Amino acid sequence: MNLSHFIASIPDELNVNYVGVANLSKAHDFILMQGGENIAAFPCAISIGIVLPSAIVDLLPQRKDKTVQVNYRHHAYDIVNERLDLAASVIAWRLQKAGYLAFPIPASRTGIDGRLCGSFSHKLGAHLSGLGWIGKSCLLVTPEHGPRVRWATILTDAPLEPTGESLEDRCGDCTQCVDICPVHAFTGRHFLPDEPREARYKANLCDRYFKALENRGELKVCGLCLYVCPFGRESQTAGKAAI
Ligand code: SF4
Ligand code: SF4
Repeated sequence: MNLSHFIASIPDELNVNYVGVANLSKAHDFILMQGGENIAAFPCAISIGIVLPSAIVDLLPQRKDKTVQVNYRHHAYDIVNERLDLAASVIAWRLQKAGYLAFPIPASRTGIDGRLCGSFSHKLGAHLSGLGWIGKSCLLVTPEHGPRVRWATILTDAPLEPTGESLEDRCGDCTQCVDICPVHAFTGRHFLPDEPREARYKANLCDRYFKALENRGELKVCGLCLYVCPFGRESQTAGKAAI
């Protein structure tokens, strides 16, 4: 198997818009703390991303409307996650068939022991692959589509070439995600690799907000921080194409 050709073929073959490869050694301690030894044993991550449908994301300010909730939850969440998981499964199988270990991480956030995070941060993988930076919203912000991209990861021991360096933070003085959050979950601090996520994002406030929505019989849909980012909105209006 020619690994470089394989990576380059992923967007067309598996209908994803982003692919990147990260060397995980720089973030080993964080990965060990978050996911444990089995996860931290992999030296390399393949990130794949799918751009969310802008016509659906653009309606999020009207999210009290049931139709907006259902469309977002279905097409911008469930279906995109399923497409990512299927693509990750195929990638993992092809690597395994070529003699490598490959471990697909589910696209959707999975709580472990009550923690509000998964066993591996897709955002971290995509950031280390050079696909974007981690914004004040704690979302991965791509230059082309802002945070309007959903991610999955395949960990592997295949000797892949990293695709790029981590991008510098381009949030600057912008505070739009901080200002729009209905529960003030963001502190407005720039991402620093050595700082815990809690310094920037009170995940429990967002989680409590979703639970309150559920208790009122509504779908758990907000995403205003994702909607408002100028990098996502400007790229949509400019009509830039994905990979
Ligand atoms: S999803 Fe909504 S409540 Fe949660 S952090 Fe983003 S803007 Fe705030
Ligand atoms: S809305 Fe502004 S501050 Fe928030 S992630 Fe996007 S660019 Fe950064």
